Amino acid sequence: MITLEHVEKHFGALHALKDISGQIVQGEVAVLCGPSGSGKSTLIRTINRLEEIDGGRIIVAGQDIHEKSLDLNAFRERVGFVFQQFNLFPHLSVLDNITLAPRKLRKVPKAEAEEKALLLLDRVGLREKASAFPTSLSGGQSQRVAIARSLAMSPEVMLFDEPTSALDPEMVSEVLAVMTELAQEGMTMVCVTHEMGFARSVADTVWFLEAGRVEAQLSSEEFFESGNNPRIRAFMAHVG
Ligand code: ADP
Ligand code: MG
Repeated sequence: MITLEHVEKHFGALHALKDISGQIVQGEVAVLCGPSGSGKSTLIRTINRLEEIDGGRIIVAGQDIHEKSLDLNAFRERVGFVFQQFNLFPHLSVLDNITLAPRKLRKVPKAEAEEKALLLLDRVGLREKASAFPTSLSGGQSQRVAIARSLAMSPEVMLFDEPTSALDPEMVSEVLAVMTELAQEGMTMVCVTHEMGFARSVADTVWFLEAGRVEAQLSSEEFFESGNNPRIRAFMAHVG
């Protein structure tokens, strides 16, 4: 589903991504972890071209995403992105947040878009919040709405960049539960997260980044048994 080949990225003199290659197959959940500043956000952002690259290739669902003929907006509709900050539209109700893109970009009729939105709200456990406004939601509720909003476009891949890092601790699990269910339904997911319990129980593969390089790319089992890698050990001691 996603292939990275020798991906390079510089920010001026800073070499942010160094020769990154790897594959994520359909239905796979890949967790990207590593110390702050190691390039996790930069890497995940390259996958839907929120960040351009200076070298290498990225192929998503059979498409080289840097081909001139690519329709970037159409491509981005196929790849959902959930950020640390939920970025809900504050002036729109929960329902309108979710139906906006399908209605505007896909011309889905209002009633049909709302029907689907309510089903998505069921899935994230928030149907009763359909007419609420974002300011009245907790962080965990907001993030679940943000996930529902992404799913409304029926993406083939979901990208998550530290979706629980801005949340109060008691709200982390409700968001991870939604992500876990999505994974179990077979969604292809790339998740930047420090939630190692989630990585252990849900991820198929774990990529460990350090200083712009993928230091290890292991099955989840291998990663959590890789006590012989001192860098991973040091990182794990840090994040618990
Ligand atoms: P992580 O998500 O692992 O914490 P990032 O991908 O955000 O790391 O950042 C990797 C490196 O690139 C850091 O040194 C960061 O300061 C730098 N960086 C990220 N975005 C930019 C940018 N837009 N301009 C300049 N430097 C950046
Ligand atoms: Mg980051």
